[in-house]
Amino acid sequence: MELKTFPNGIFGATTYLIWDKDTLEAAMVDCTSSIDEIEKIIKKEKINLKYILITHGHFDHVYCLNQMKEKFKETLVLMSKEDAFLLNQLPNQCSMAEVEEIKIPCIDGFIDENSKNLKLGNYEIKIIQTPGHTQGGVCYLINNVLFSGDTLFKESIGRCDLWGGNYNSIEKSIKEKLFKLDSNIIVYPGHGDKTSIGYEKKYNSYFGSNS
Ligand SMILES: [Zn+2]
Repeated sequence: MELKTFPNGIFGATTYLIWDKDTLEAAMVDCTSSIDEIEKIIKKEKINLKYILITHGHFDHVYCLNQMKEKFKETLVLMSKEDAFLLNQLPNQCSMAEVEEIKIPCIDGFIDENSKNLKLGNYEIKIIQTPGHTQGGVCYLINNVLFSGDTLFKESIGRCDLWGGNYNSIEKSIKEKLFKLDSNIIVYPGHGDKTSIGYEKKYNSYFGSNS
């Protein structure tokens, strides 16, 4: 697996590009920045962008989705159905954040934990539904890498005070789902530094054993 991180998205959100070295099938996780840079890498590495996997419907995670989809028309954009209403609220989200408004992007398919046959080359893409930061937030587990969106950050968690966020739900999602994963899994969050499940189980300031 190859992975590249693009951390300078709008509101500090991070876009990831991950691909299978053998088959050259690639996925982008969220779509918030560095479109030109990402396009260059896709061309240089001759990879095929199969999916854009959206972790949740906040504007800072989908801000460049329309531009990307214009360039990569065959790529499928996937997200959870429960967060679709947030896309309809994008004009409102953008004006609250005082950023230029974006058009509501099209989603090609909805995914949940029952979704089958989501493959990235030789690897399966597993969906973990983690409501709390938003109702429809999901994490994507590919091999030993977890893309946690705004559910789990290094030593922190996503806020729960916006558009249907719920603290009890995020606590449940993290404790009962993410912390049950293998400790060696590397976590790539929607903002900030990477971490691991094992590290967060110990040091997360909300739910870690040392907190
Ligand atoms: Zn968010």
